[in-house]
Amino acid sequence: MPMTRPLFDLTIHEAAVLLRQRQVSAVELTEAVLERIYAVDNDVRAYLALMPEAALEDAAAADRALADAPDPASLPPLLGIPLAIKDVILVEGLPATAGSRILEDFLPPYEATVVRRLRAAGAVLLGKTNTDEFAMGSSTENSAYFTTHNPWDPGRVPGGSSGGSAAAVAAGECLAALGTDTGGSVRQPASFCGVVGLKPTYGRVSRYGIVAFASSLDQVGPLARDVADAALLLRTIAGHDPQDSTSVDLPVPDYLASLALRDRPLQGLRVGVPQEYFVEGMQPEVESAVRAAIAQLAELGGQIREISLPHTAYALPVYYILAPAEASANLARYDGVRFGPRHPDARTMWEVFTKTRGAGFGPEVKRRIMLGTYALSAGYYDAWYLQAQQVRTLLKRDFDLAFAGSPGAGDGVDVIACPTSPTTAFRIGERSSDPLAMYLADIFTLSLNLAGNCGISLPCGFDQQGLPIGLQLIGPAFGESTILAAAYAFEQATDWHTRRPTLQPTG
Ligand code: GLN
Repeated sequence: MPMTRPLFDLTIHEAAVLLRQRQVSAVELTEAVLERIYAVDNDVRAYLALMPEAALEDAAAADRALADAPDPASLPPLLGIPLAIKDVILVEGLPATAGSRILEDFLPPYEATVVRRLRAAGAVLLGKTNTDEFAMGSSTENSAYFTTHNPWDPGRVPGGSSGGSAAAVAAGECLAALGTDTGGSVRQPASFCGVVGLKPTYGRVSRYGIVAFASSLDQVGPLARDVADAALLLRTIAGHDPQDSTSVDLPVPDYLASLALRDRPLQGLRVGVPQEYFVEGMQPEVESAVRAAIAQLAELGGQIREISLPHTAYALPVYYILAPAEASANLARYDGVRFGPRHPDARTMWEVFTKTRGAGFGPEVKRRIMLGTYALSAGYYDAWYLQAQQVRTLLKRDFDLAFAGSPGAGDGVDVIACPTSPTTAFRIGERSSDPLAMYLADIFTLSLNLAGNCGISLPCGFDQQGLPIGLQLIGPAFGESTILAAAYAFEQATDWHTRRPTLQPTG
């Protein structure tokens, strides 16, 4: 096969073929990606930490396995594939800062289940990617270390909080990556960086070894260059884990097998278009690209139906009560006693807590802790936390009725199609002093986390500035095969996913 594209630009499935045909070695592949990182990461700043020596050792081990295998097809699917991991996910041998000063020196004594599964499948781990502090944010500007730049326009944010992972995939600094999604943090940066991002159903993927933000909402998800790679990564990381009691004991389908190419591949698929997701104030180019994508789904055989998710307007306020409430409890452990370096000037017990936390947390994290503590405090609990939980049930019911159908609204739909984000990537600094403007970046993504079901973002166009636009396909709980199949059919009929940013190496 003639090499027309650089190695760092390959998809996982393309690289896997070349490795098995021995056209490329895993060491060559990893070296090519490391070279790319050295060339462009001064500008992109996707990585917080790298482990090149360990990566090259793992790649050499993959090459030995490839050389020894009598049947290369039987080798694990990610053998020799260089991947990046968001810094809220624990990897042995590397610090896990979660983008926070308070965890600057934290070396985890164990590894996340998702990382163990990637290693068992043969993956080569390159390093840790930048994130908003404790995954709170939509731009990586809340990272205590630095802001990641969007590879399509260095003056713009990559989205967040998994912005480092999304930018690394878009810039050729890994073949794919893991992120976490509590309110949109995989899908929104995927949309801003022109890559594929999937949030699995709550319980589909283990959260063991993930720095907790909001435990009833957090899920780990893949960021990849195409739908097949996202399916492969999901198949690898999904499944029950005895170390996470919220992970569900259901068999993991072969998500790759559901991506069959057929004539009119979406024949009979019922696609719901929620009227509440096309709101005033959204960028017109986003609306037109997403409407064009929906027309394309119809051409592929989908039956398009206008639907209503009537409680959508409450998703943002409900999320910003529940997520901070859970965060305020989860972040209590960073106190200078259990986690976090104790402040040197602290003389009393209370000073240990207040000085350590005062110096260790950034402004957004403090804002969330205060919001959450308030919503949970005696006298306010019923009015805020409890009421938000009740409205959360209504939001979930909106999705349940949309998928299952109801006597009033007729039969249900199989997938829901809408924008991932109301705008394309915004400028660095544009929203950093206006928390509400920042929170609005996730208006179309966070309802799924509250309801617990799954969603995928995939490229569906570009605006006039050349910035990527994302189409979001939402499925019912454990409907990953359906959204992946629909996303794959759309992807195969379009070429948005093949576009790459032009980056001038300066490193
Ligand atoms: N942007 C949202 C927030 O700040 C979602 C973050 C996430 O999904 N981790 O909470």
